Amino acid sequence: MALYGGIEAGGTKIVCAVGSGPDDMRAEVRFPTTRPEDTLDKAIAFFQEQSRSAEISAIGIATFGPADVNPSSPTFGFITSTPKPGWANADFVGPVQQALGVPVGFDTDVNGAALGEYRWGAAQGLDTFLYLTIGTGVGGGGMLGGKLMHGLVHPEMGHMRLPRDRHRDSFAGICPYHGDCLEGLTCGPALQAHWGVAAEKLPPDHPAWELEADYLALALHNLVCILSPQRIILGGGVAQQPILLPLVRQKLQTLLNGYVQHPAIIDDIDTYVVAPGLGNHAGVLGAIALAEMATRNTE
Ligand code: ADP
Ligand code: ZN
Repeated sequence: MALYGGIEAGGTKIVCAVGSGPDDMRAEVRFPTTRPEDTLDKAIAFFQEQSRSAEISAIGIATFGPADVNPSSPTFGFITSTPKPGWANADFVGPVQQALGVPVGFDTDVNGAALGEYRWGAAQGLDTFLYLTIGTGVGGGGMLGGKLMHGLVHPEMGHMRLPRDRHRDSFAGICPYHGDCLEGLTCGPALQAHWGVAAEKLPPDHPAWELEADYLALALHNLVCILSPQRIILGGGVAQQPILLPLVRQKLQTLLNGYVQHPAIIDDIDTYVVAPGLGNHAGVLGAIALAEMATRNTE
């Protein structure tokens, strides 16, 4: 069985792993995301060490963004406009490809996670679905008609605008670009800024969760109406609050108000809005799945 390397690159930490799928993960390291030179050196050294015992056929990178994921662009494989020190316009794929000499797949963290869920998790057998993460930021990716979503650049679902009742909630939001976009209102740091407590410390009966679920349900309503996904997977640290998914499901049904007439929404909402099938490993397995796809693309 072919072995792949996966790099899950987050704004705060990088996870590198070698394996062929969820039942065959052979080695994993994680380290903080520092400047690109140091971070890439550490990742490359890990894969060089690993490839002494078994050949690695390809590397997949599932990264924070914004990133250039268009293979025909001159800056394919670069991080583009991030405020993260050193990473703006940094080449991510180039150094990895040069050092390891294998195909390198590159996509957003959320498209990677979506591909992993398609391959081994909660989206098996579907061709049109979404993966959203509610974590340090909010992002969304997925497949449309069996293809990972790309376009002008890549979707930025986390930055959609939502209708708001400012008498009920006057929080200005924390997105540096938009203030109260979806990410600005619902990511973990937004909850912390709004309520003065880390998201994981907010008890289930705190009013924060009702509001959080209202905003997420509005976002999902828009996504259901625009993309008609067959399923929506909600990952990320904030979605680990156990009451959040049930609240979002119920509010999404209420908002849609019977308009989208499909049993998946009317009767089976519990299997329509779901947690990642791959749990905490969705990210790094997504990167492994991107590597697997990169070998297929070069055959
Ligand atoms: P990242 O987005 O950086 O990959 P995570 O998906 O783990 O990381 O998200 C981190 C965010 O999730 C933090 O803001 C943290 O406060 C929040 N978080 C982590 N665990 C929980 C939890 N059990 N309940 C609610 N929020 C959580
Ligand atoms: Zn925004």
